[in-house]
Amino acid sequence: MQTRSNADAVLPPATIGILGGGQLGRMMALAGRQMGYRFRVLDPTPDAPAAQVADGQVVAAYDDVDAARRLASQCHLVTYEFENVSAAVAAALAETCDVPQGSELLAICQHRVREKSTLAGRGLPVTPFLPVSSLRDLDEAFERFDGRMVVKTCRGGYDGKGQWMVRSREQLETYARDWTRAIDHHRAAGFDDHPLIAEAYVPFEGELSVIVARNRRGEVRAFPPAENIHKRHILHMSIVPARYPEDVIARAEEVARQVAESLGVVGLIAVEMFVTGEREILINELAPRPHNSGHYTLDACATSQFEQHVRAICNLPLGDVKLYSPVVMVNVLGQHVEPLLARMRDFPPQVKVHLYGKAEAKRDRKMGHVNIVVDEVSRALRWVETCGVWTDT
Ligand code: AMP
Repeated sequence: MQTRSNADAVLPPATIGILGGGQLGRMMALAGRQMGYRFRVLDPTPDAPAAQVADGQVVAAYDDVDAARRLASQCHLVTYEFENVSAAVAAALAETCDVPQGSELLAICQHRVREKSTLAGRGLPVTPFLPVSSLRDLDEAFERFDGRMVVKTCRGGYDGKGQWMVRSREQLETYARDWTRAIDHHRAAGFDDHPLIAEAYVPFEGELSVIVARNRRGEVRAFPPAENIHKRHILHMSIVPARYPEDVIARAEEVARQVAESLGVVGLIAVEMFVTGEREILINELAPRPHNSGHYTLDACATSQFEQHVRAICNLPLGDVKLYSPVVMVNVLGQHVEPLLARMRDFPPQVKVHLYGKAEAKRDRKMGHVNIVVDEVSRALRWVETCGVWTDT
Protein backbone atom coordinates (compact mmCIF):
# COMPACT_ATOMS: atom_id res chain seq x y z
CA MET A 1 0.00 0.00 0.00
CA GLN A 2 1.08 3.58 -0.47
CA THR A 3 3.75 5.29 1.57
CA ARG A 4 2.77 8.55 3.20
CA SER A 5 4.75 11.72 3.52
CA ASN A 6 5.88 12.94 6.92
CA ALA A 7 3.16 15.53 7.08
CA ASP A 8 0.42 12.95 6.60
CA ALA A 9 -1.49 11.26 9.33
CA VAL A 10 -2.68 7.69 8.87
CA LEU A 11 -6.32 7.83 9.81
CA PRO A 12 -8.83 5.20 10.92
CA PRO A 13 -9.97 2.78 9.57
CA ALA A 14 -6.45 2.12 8.25
CA THR A 15 -5.06 -1.32 8.98
CA ILE A 16 -2.00 -1.58 11.19
CA GLY A 17 0.15 -4.69 11.03
CA ILE A 18 1.96 -5.88 14.15
CA LEU A 19 5.00 -8.08 13.99
CA GLY A 20 4.61 -10.23 17.09
CA GLY A 21 1.40 -11.36 18.72
CA GLY A 22 2.22 -11.14 22.43
CA GLN A 23 0.70 -9.01 25.17
CA LEU A 24 2.26 -5.75 23.94
CA GLY A 25 0.65 -6.24 20.54
CA ARG A 26 -2.62 -7.19 22.22
CA MET A 27 -2.80 -4.01 24.29
CA MET A 28 -1.72 -1.95 21.27
CA ALA A 29 -4.54 -3.44 19.20
CA LEU A 30 -7.08 -2.93 21.99
CA ALA A 31 -6.13 0.75 22.23
CA GLY A 32 -6.06 1.21 18.46
CA ARG A 33 -9.40 -0.49 17.89
CA GLN A 34 -11.03 2.02 20.20
CA MET A 35 -9.75 4.68 17.84
CA GLY A 36 -11.18 2.83 14.82
CA TYR A 37 -8.05 1.20 13.41
CA ARG A 38 -7.97 -2.40 12.17
CA PHE A 39 -5.16 -4.78 13.05
CA ARG A 40 -3.39 -7.77 11.55
CA VAL A 41 -0.79 -9.74 13.44
CA LEU A 42 2.11 -11.96 12.45
CA ASP A 43 2.95 -14.63 15.03
CA PRO A 44 3.83 -18.35 14.88
CA THR A 45 1.29 -19.32 17.59
CA PRO A 46 -2.32 -19.57 16.41
CA ASP A 47 -4.69 -17.54 18.61
CA ALA A 48 -1.76 -15.54 20.01
CA PRO A 49 -2.75 -12.89 22.61
CA ALA A 50 -2.80 -10.06 20.03
CA ALA A 51 -4.51 -12.18 17.37
CA GLN A 52 -7.44 -12.72 19.76
CA VAL A 53 -8.30 -9.04 19.50
CA ALA A 54 -7.18 -8.38 15.89
CA ASP A 55 -8.95 -8.70 12.54
CA GLY A 56 -6.61 -11.40 11.30
CA GLN A 57 -3.39 -13.28 11.84
CA VAL A 58 -0.64 -14.51 9.56
CA VAL A 59 0.56 -17.67 11.31
CA ALA A 60 4.28 -17.80 10.56
CA ALA A 61 7.71 -17.51 12.10
CA TYR A 62 9.01 -14.00 12.80
CA ASP A 63 11.87 -14.49 10.35
CA ASP A 64 9.63 -15.70 7.49
CA VAL A 65 10.25 -12.99 4.89
CA ASP A 66 7.40 -14.09 2.59
CA ALA A 67 4.96 -14.08 5.49
CA ALA A 68 6.13 -10.58 6.49
CA ARG A 69 5.49 -9.45 2.89
CA ARG A 70 2.03 -11.00 3.05
CA LEU A 71 1.30 -9.11 6.27
CA ALA A 72 2.57 -5.85 4.76
CA SER A 73 0.41 -6.28 1.64
CA GLN A 74 -2.69 -6.24 3.87
CA CYS A 75 -1.70 -3.19 5.91
CA HIS A 76 -1.24 0.57 5.63
CA LEU A 77 1.64 0.50 8.05
CA VAL A 78 3.52 -2.04 10.09
CA THR A 79 4.86 -1.79 13.62
CA TYR A 80 6.54 -4.32 15.89
CA GLU A 81 6.17 -5.33 19.50
CA PHE A 82 9.67 -6.75 19.99
CA GLU A 83 13.07 -5.61 18.81
CA ASN A 84 14.60 -8.82 17.54
CA VAL A 85 13.12 -8.46 14.08
CA SER A 86 15.63 -9.66 11.49
CA ALA A 87 17.08 -7.06 9.13
CA ALA A 88 15.78 -9.12 6.17
CA VAL A 89 12.21 -8.99 7.49
CA ALA A 90 12.42 -5.25 8.24
CA ALA A 91 13.69 -4.63 4.68
CA ALA A 92 10.95 -6.82 3.15
CA LEU A 93 8.29 -4.91 5.05
CA ALA A 94 9.67 -1.53 4.04
CA GLU A 95 9.53 -2.54 0.34
CA THR A 96 5.75 -2.59 0.18
CA CYS A 97 4.60 -0.83 3.29
CA ASP A 98 5.16 2.12 5.57
CA VAL A 99 7.30 1.16 8.60
CA PRO A 100 7.26 4.38 10.63
CA GLN A 101 9.78 3.18 13.21
CA GLY A 102 12.29 2.43 10.44
CA SER A 103 15.01 -0.17 10.67
CA GLU A 104 17.91 1.92 11.98
CA LEU A 105 16.61 2.11 15.54
CA LEU A 106 15.96 -1.63 15.47
CA ALA A 107 19.55 -2.29 14.45
CA ILE A 108 20.78 -0.10 17.31
CA CYS A 109 18.56 -1.68 19.97
CA GLN A 110 19.30 -5.24 18.84
CA HIS A 111 22.91 -5.07 19.86
CA ARG A 112 24.08 -3.93 23.29
CA VAL A 113 27.47 -2.60 22.16
CA ARG A 114 25.94 -0.67 19.28
CA GLU A 115 23.25 0.68 21.60
CA LYS A 116 25.70 1.87 24.25
CA SER A 117 28.24 3.26 21.75
CA THR A 118 25.51 5.19 19.93
CA LEU A 119 24.24 6.71 23.16
CA ALA A 120 27.74 7.49 24.46
CA GLY A 121 28.59 9.03 21.08
CA ARG A 122 25.69 11.43 21.54
CA GLY A 123 26.86 12.47 24.96
CA LEU A 124 24.29 10.44 26.87
CA PRO A 125 25.25 8.75 30.17
CA VAL A 126 25.62 4.97 29.91
CA THR A 127 27.01 2.25 32.17
CA PRO A 128 30.78 1.95 31.53
CA PHE A 129 31.30 -0.93 29.10
CA LEU A 130 33.80 -2.77 26.90
CA PRO A 131 33.03 -4.74 23.73
CA VAL A 132 34.09 -8.38 23.98
CA SER A 133 35.12 -10.79 21.21
CA SER A 134 37.32 -13.23 23.10
CA LEU A 135 38.09 -14.62 26.55
CA ARG A 136 41.14 -12.36 26.59
CA ASP A 137 38.94 -9.31 26.26
CA LEU A 138 37.12 -10.54 29.37
CA ASP A 139 40.35 -10.75 31.35
CA GLU A 140 41.10 -7.16 30.40
CA ALA A 141 37.57 -6.04 31.26
CA PHE A 142 37.87 -7.73 34.66
CA GLU A 143 40.99 -5.64 35.38
CA ARG A 144 39.47 -2.46 34.03
CA PHE A 145 36.31 -2.81 36.11
CA ASP A 146 38.21 -3.63 39.32
CA GLY A 147 37.06 -7.22 39.56
CA ARG A 148 33.30 -6.61 39.45
CA MET A 149 31.48 -6.75 36.16
CA VAL A 150 28.37 -7.98 34.39
CA VAL A 151 28.89 -9.89 31.15
CA LYS A 152 25.97 -10.05 28.73
CA THR A 153 25.29 -11.47 25.29
CA CYS A 154 24.97 -8.57 22.87
CA ARG A 155 21.97 -10.02 21.09
CA GLY A 156 18.79 -11.66 22.21
CA GLY A 157 19.09 -11.69 26.03
CA TYR A 158 16.10 -10.76 28.16
CA ASP A 159 14.94 -11.03 31.79
CA GLY A 160 18.51 -11.77 32.90
CA LYS A 161 19.03 -14.58 30.37
CA GLY A 162 22.47 -14.50 28.72
CA GLN A 163 23.93 -12.62 31.70
CA TRP A 164 26.75 -13.41 34.12
CA MET A 165 27.70 -11.50 37.23
CA VAL A 166 31.45 -11.75 37.83
CA ARG A 167 32.90 -10.97 41.24
CA SER A 168 36.08 -13.08 41.40
CA ARG A 169 38.92 -14.29 39.22
CA GLU A 170 37.75 -17.91 39.72
CA GLN A 171 34.46 -17.05 38.08
CA LEU A 172 36.34 -16.08 34.92
CA GLU A 173 37.25 -19.77 34.69
CA THR A 174 33.89 -21.08 35.82
CA TYR A 175 32.08 -19.19 33.06
CA ALA A 176 34.71 -19.62 30.34
CA ARG A 177 32.83 -22.54 28.80
CA ASP A 178 29.52 -20.63 28.73
CA TRP A 179 31.19 -17.65 27.09
CA THR A 180 32.98 -19.77 24.48
CA ARG A 181 29.64 -21.36 23.66
CA ALA A 182 27.95 -17.95 23.41
CA ILE A 183 30.72 -16.64 21.12
CA ASP A 184 30.50 -19.74 18.89
CA HIS A 185 26.72 -19.51 18.77
CA HIS A 186 26.91 -15.86 17.75
CA ARG A 187 29.37 -16.62 14.94
CA ALA A 188 27.37 -19.68 13.79
CA ALA A 189 24.31 -17.44 13.46
CA GLY A 190 26.29 -15.42 10.92
CA PHE A 191 26.96 -12.28 12.96
CA ASP A 192 30.38 -10.69 12.65
CA ASP A 193 29.89 -8.02 15.32
CA HIS A 194 30.82 -8.29 19.02
CA PRO A 195 29.21 -11.32 20.64
CA LEU A 196 29.49 -10.12 24.26
CA ILE A 197 29.68 -6.95 26.30
CA ALA A 198 31.31 -6.44 29.69
CA GLU A 199 29.83 -3.73 31.87
CA ALA A 200 31.10 -2.26 35.10
CA TYR A 201 28.96 -3.54 37.95
CA VAL A 202 26.84 -0.58 39.04
CA PRO A 203 25.96 -0.71 42.75
CA PHE A 204 22.79 1.19 41.98
CA GLU A 205 20.31 2.53 44.48
CA GLY A 206 17.42 1.79 42.23
CA GLU A 207 16.13 1.47 38.71
CA LEU A 208 13.94 3.91 36.80
CA SER A 209 12.42 3.75 33.36
CA VAL A 210 10.89 6.44 31.23
CA ILE A 211 8.73 5.82 28.19
CA VAL A 212 8.91 8.57 25.62
CA ALA A 213 6.84 9.01 22.49
CA ARG A 214 7.86 10.92 19.40
CA ASN A 215 5.80 11.32 16.24
CA ARG A 216 6.93 12.17 12.73
CA ARG A 217 6.35 15.86 13.28
CA GLY A 218 8.96 15.74 16.04
CA GLU A 219 6.54 16.22 18.92
CA VAL A 220 7.95 14.52 22.05
CA ARG A 221 6.23 13.51 25.31
CA ALA A 222 7.60 11.54 28.23
CA PHE A 223 5.42 9.58 30.65
CA PRO A 224 6.21 10.01 34.36
CA PRO A 225 9.25 7.89 35.35
CA ALA A 226 8.50 4.51 36.91
CA GLU A 227 10.52 3.07 39.79
CA ASN A 228 11.13 -0.55 38.95
CA ILE A 229 11.66 -3.44 41.36
CA HIS A 230 13.01 -6.66 39.85
CA LYS A 231 12.92 -10.14 41.36
CA ARG A 232 15.31 -12.69 39.92
CA HIS A 233 15.96 -10.28 36.99
CA ILE A 234 12.27 -10.18 36.06
CA LEU A 235 10.29 -6.98 36.51
CA HIS A 236 8.10 -7.43 39.58
CA MET A 237 6.69 -3.97 40.22
CA SER A 238 6.62 -0.47 38.83
CA ILE A 239 5.86 2.33 41.26
CA VAL A 240 4.64 5.74 40.10
CA PRO A 241 5.41 8.42 41.15
CA ALA A 242 8.92 7.02 41.61
CA ARG A 243 10.17 7.56 45.17
CA TYR A 244 13.15 9.76 44.27
CA PRO A 245 13.90 13.44 44.79
CA GLU A 246 12.49 15.78 42.18
CA ASP A 247 15.86 16.56 40.64
CA VAL A 248 16.50 12.85 39.95
CA ILE A 249 13.07 12.43 38.37
CA ALA A 250 13.56 15.53 36.23
CA ARG A 251 17.00 14.36 35.12
CA ALA A 252 15.64 10.90 34.19
CA GLU A 253 12.92 12.50 32.10
CA GLU A 254 15.38 14.83 30.45
CA VAL A 255 17.80 12.00 29.57
CA ALA A 256 14.95 9.95 28.09
CA ARG A 257 13.72 12.87 25.97
CA GLN A 258 17.25 13.40 24.70
CA VAL A 259 17.41 9.72 23.71
CA ALA A 260 14.18 10.00 21.70
CA GLU A 261 15.29 13.21 20.03
CA SER A 262 18.86 12.26 19.27
CA LEU A 263 17.84 8.90 17.80
CA GLY A 264 14.95 10.42 15.84
CA VAL A 265 12.56 7.85 17.32
CA VAL A 266 9.11 7.46 15.78
CA GLY A 267 6.78 5.59 18.12
CA LEU A 268 7.81 4.76 21.67
CA ILE A 269 11.17 4.22 23.27
CA ALA A 270 11.55 2.84 26.78
CA VAL A 271 14.72 3.99 28.49
CA GLU A 272 15.83 1.86 31.45
CA MET A 273 18.25 3.53 33.83
CA PHE A 274 20.16 3.00 37.05
CA VAL A 275 20.20 5.63 39.78
CA THR A 276 23.56 5.51 41.56
CA GLY A 277 24.31 6.39 45.17
CA GLU A 278 25.59 9.75 43.91
CA ARG A 279 22.22 10.28 42.22
CA GLU A 280 23.76 9.92 38.82
CA ILE A 281 21.58 8.51 36.04
CA LEU A 282 23.12 5.81 33.81
CA ILE A 283 21.24 4.30 30.88
CA ASN A 284 21.17 0.50 31.06
CA GLU A 285 19.13 -0.37 27.99
CA LEU A 286 16.56 0.75 25.45
CA ALA A 287 13.44 -0.89 24.05
CA PRO A 288 11.93 0.68 20.91
CA ARG A 289 8.33 -0.26 21.74
CA PRO A 290 5.80 -0.26 24.57
CA HIS A 291 7.35 -1.62 27.75
CA ASN A 292 6.25 -3.67 30.74
CA SER A 293 7.13 -0.79 33.06
CA GLY A 294 4.63 1.41 31.21
CA HIS A 295 1.58 -0.76 31.86
CA TYR A 296 0.63 1.52 34.74
CA THR A 297 -0.42 4.12 32.15
CA LEU A 298 -3.44 1.95 31.22
CA ASP A 299 -5.28 2.89 34.40
CA ALA A 300 -3.45 5.89 35.83
CA CYS A 301 -2.72 8.26 32.94
CA ALA A 302 -4.79 10.40 30.61
CA THR A 303 -3.34 8.40 27.69
CA SER A 304 -1.98 4.85 27.82
CA GLN A 305 1.42 4.01 26.35
CA PHE A 306 -0.39 1.84 23.78
CA GLU A 307 -2.67 4.62 22.56
CA GLN A 308 0.38 6.90 22.50
CA HIS A 309 2.28 4.43 20.34
CA VAL A 310 -0.59 4.25 17.85
CA ARG A 311 -0.86 8.05 17.81
CA ALA A 312 2.89 8.42 17.27
CA ILE A 313 3.21 5.93 14.40
CA CYS A 314 0.07 7.29 12.74
CA ASN A 315 1.45 10.83 13.09
CA LEU A 316 -1.48 12.07 15.16
CA PRO A 317 -0.93 14.63 17.91
CA LEU A 318 0.47 12.93 21.00
CA GLY A 319 -1.90 12.44 23.93
CA ASP A 320 -1.69 14.03 27.38
CA VAL A 321 0.71 12.11 29.65
CA LYS A 322 -0.77 13.43 32.88
CA LEU A 323 -0.74 11.02 35.83
CA TYR A 324 -4.20 11.00 37.40
CA SER A 325 -3.27 9.00 40.48
CA PRO A 326 -0.40 7.22 42.21
CA VAL A 327 -0.24 3.63 41.01
CA VAL A 328 1.63 0.37 41.53
CA MET A 329 1.83 -2.15 38.69
CA VAL A 330 2.60 -5.75 39.66
CA ASN A 331 3.32 -8.49 37.16
CA VAL A 332 1.30 -11.69 37.21
CA LEU A 333 3.63 -14.54 36.29
CA GLY A 334 2.61 -18.15 35.62
CA GLN A 335 2.91 -19.11 39.29
CA HIS A 336 0.65 -16.21 40.35
CA VAL A 337 -2.34 -17.04 38.18
CA GLU A 338 -3.91 -19.66 40.43
CA PRO A 339 -3.67 -17.64 43.67
CA LEU A 340 -4.86 -14.55 41.80
CA LEU A 341 -7.95 -16.26 40.41
CA ALA A 342 -8.69 -17.82 43.79
CA ARG A 343 -8.71 -14.39 45.46
CA MET A 344 -9.87 -12.11 42.68
CA ARG A 345 -13.52 -11.92 43.70
CA ASP A 346 -12.44 -10.32 46.97
CA PHE A 347 -10.03 -7.78 45.48
CA PRO A 348 -10.67 -4.16 46.46
CA PRO A 349 -12.07 -1.92 43.72
CA GLN A 350 -8.76 -0.09 43.25
CA VAL A 351 -7.17 -3.26 41.85
CA LYS A 352 -7.43 -3.51 38.07
CA VAL A 353 -6.64 -6.95 36.69
CA HIS A 354 -5.27 -7.37 33.15
CA LEU A 355 -4.79 -10.90 31.78
CA TYR A 356 -3.28 -11.57 28.38
CA GLY A 357 -5.19 -14.65 27.20
CA LYS A 358 -2.15 -16.95 27.14
CA ALA A 359 -3.02 -20.62 27.08
CA GLU A 360 -0.35 -22.03 29.36
CA ALA A 361 0.67 -20.58 32.75
CA LYS A 362 4.33 -21.61 32.81
CA ARG A 363 6.52 -20.51 35.72
CA ASP A 364 7.90 -16.98 35.20
CA ARG A 365 5.88 -16.44 32.02
CA LYS A 366 4.21 -13.03 31.96
CA MET A 367 0.49 -13.85 32.06
CA GLY A 368 -0.91 -10.48 33.07
CA HIS A 369 -0.49 -7.60 35.48
CA VAL A 370 -2.51 -5.66 38.00
CA ASN A 371 -2.60 -1.93 38.46
CA ILE A 372 -3.39 -0.75 41.95
CA VAL A 373 -4.65 2.80 41.70
CA VAL A 374 -4.61 4.44 45.12
CA ASP A 375 -3.98 7.74 46.92
CA GLU A 376 -0.84 6.43 48.61
CA VAL A 377 1.74 4.14 47.05
CA SER A 378 2.49 2.68 50.51
CA ARG A 379 -1.07 1.34 50.76
CA ALA A 380 -0.75 -0.45 47.45
CA LEU A 381 2.60 -1.95 48.49
CA ARG A 382 1.07 -3.22 51.73
CA TRP A 383 -1.75 -4.86 49.81
CA VAL A 384 0.70 -6.61 47.45
CA GLU A 385 2.58 -7.99 50.46
CA THR A 386 -0.46 -9.27 52.28
CA CYS A 387 -2.93 -10.34 49.58
CA GLY A 388 -1.47 -13.83 49.24
CA VAL A 389 -0.79 -13.79 45.48
CA TRP A 390 2.92 -12.83 45.34
CA THR A 391 4.22 -15.27 47.92
CA ASP A 392 7.00 -16.81 45.81
CA THR A 393 10.57 -15.55 46.18
P1 AMP B 1 19.26 -6.01 31.50
O1 AMP B 1 18.95 -7.29 30.81
O2 AMP B 1 20.44 -5.29 30.93
O3 AMP B 1 18.05 -5.12 31.64
O4 AMP B 1 19.64 -6.39 33.00
C1 AMP B 1 18.71 -7.03 33.87
C2 AMP B 1 18.95 -6.60 35.29
O5 AMP B 1 20.27 -7.00 35.72
C3 AMP B 1 18.91 -5.10 35.48
O6 AMP B 1 17.60 -4.65 35.64
C4 AMP B 1 19.76 -4.95 36.74
O7 AMP B 1 18.98 -5.25 37.88
C5 AMP B 1 20.84 -5.99 36.56
N1 AMP B 1 22.01 -5.39 35.89
C6 AMP B 1 22.21 -5.32 34.56
N2 AMP B 1 23.36 -4.68 34.26
C7 AMP B 1 23.93 -4.33 35.43
C8 AMP B 1 25.13 -3.64 35.78
N3 AMP B 1 25.99 -3.19 34.87
N4 AMP B 1 25.36 -3.46 37.11
C9 AMP B 1 24.51 -3.92 38.05
N5 AMP B 1 23.37 -4.59 37.77
C10 AMP B 1 23.07 -4.80 36.49
